[in-house]
Amino acid sequence: MHEHASARGAVETMIRSRDLEGLLRHAETIHGHRCPYLALGIKAGQYAMTYLDQENTGMEEIVAIVECNNCFTDGIQVVTGCTFGNNALIFRDLGKTAVTVALRGNGRGLRLVVRPQYREEMLARYPAAGPLFQKVVVQRNAPPEEEHHLDHIWPAIAYKELERPLEDSLLVKEVSVKLPPYARIFPSVVCSQCGESVMEPRVRLVQGQPTCLTCAGAEYAELTGQGVGCGRS
Ligand SMILES: [Zn+2]
Ligand SMILES: [Zn+2]
Repeated sequence: MHEHASARGAVETMIRSRDLEGLLRHAETIHGHRCPYLALGIKAGQYAMTYLDQENTGMEEIVAIVECNNCFTDGIQVVTGCTFGNNALIFRDLGKTAVTVALRGNGRGLRLVVRPQYREEMLARYPAAGPLFQKVVVQRNAPPEEEHHLDHIWPAIAYKELERPLEDSLLVKEVSVKLPPYARIFPSVVCSQCGESVMEPRVRLVQGQPTCLTCAGAEYAELTGQGVGCGRS
């Protein structure tokens, strides 16, 4: 079998050959479209992975700390291979388009943050895009033909932005970070009310009976488009 027959291997190969277009195309599979901030996440991820020179097989070899949940973050997840599911993605709700990618072993890595002028400079390069984006995405009141137009120009802009030098868009700094312990595997407990299986640290005792947070009417942490907040069912 070929050394890089796995789908992740294909991503690792694109990282090493600096195939940014291939990575952007691949990222569309989870992000749903190609846009300039997805392209930025691709660039940041590719740069950090090349710097660290460590393949990621999803066993926490590498950890990514993201500071916002936007398009950029999906580019980071695809390229670094650090996701919610493999416990290698840490979300800090700081509202910055930034990422720190570090080696699990020693915490050595890079922090990349989008330059504050980037958005304005990028939109100035494509004068038609700014007002269209405002109407279609921000105000959500554009007619279908304008939505269709954005569908066409947004990927084109994303590809153009890929070709620009990294330092135009991102500030890069070497860092050494303190990482939390490896993910633990917790035992499961069955909720006495709904009968569903629950990770033990999320179980509350209600009248002495193990109860999930939903049945207990308790608050839980929730990540939405507004950031991390409190939910209650
Ligand atoms: Zn996007
Ligand atoms: Zn329950």
